[in-house]
Amino acid sequence: MAINSTRKVLLRLDPSYKRCPSCGDVNTLRRSRAKNFYENVLKVTRVYKMYRCRKCNWRGPISTLIITKQTLRNLAIYIAMVLLTLFIVSRAIGNITS
Ligand SMILES: [Zn+2]
Repeated sequence: MAINSTRKVLLRLDPSYKRCPSCGDVNTLRRSRAKNFYENVLKVTRVYKMYRCRKCNWRGPISTLIITKQTLRNLAIYIAMVLLTLFIVSRAIGNITS
């Protein structure tokens, strides 16, 4: 849905169709389980996911996000909103304490 994808801050992409970083083959990457603390931290951030190449057995994290002009603009709007909220809250707190 076009409306949905433009409202998302970041678009997600399935790296299964990306080239393997090691052997450069297409369509050989498959999801791999997180095996240690570091890989679990990556999993929680949801930016990277662990993948394994079925051909050369390469294993590592691959980003699932695509950054476009639209996502950068959305991100800028969100950051501006957060900064504005922080400003308003700090003013409100300042009024209470003074
Ligand atoms: Zn490979």
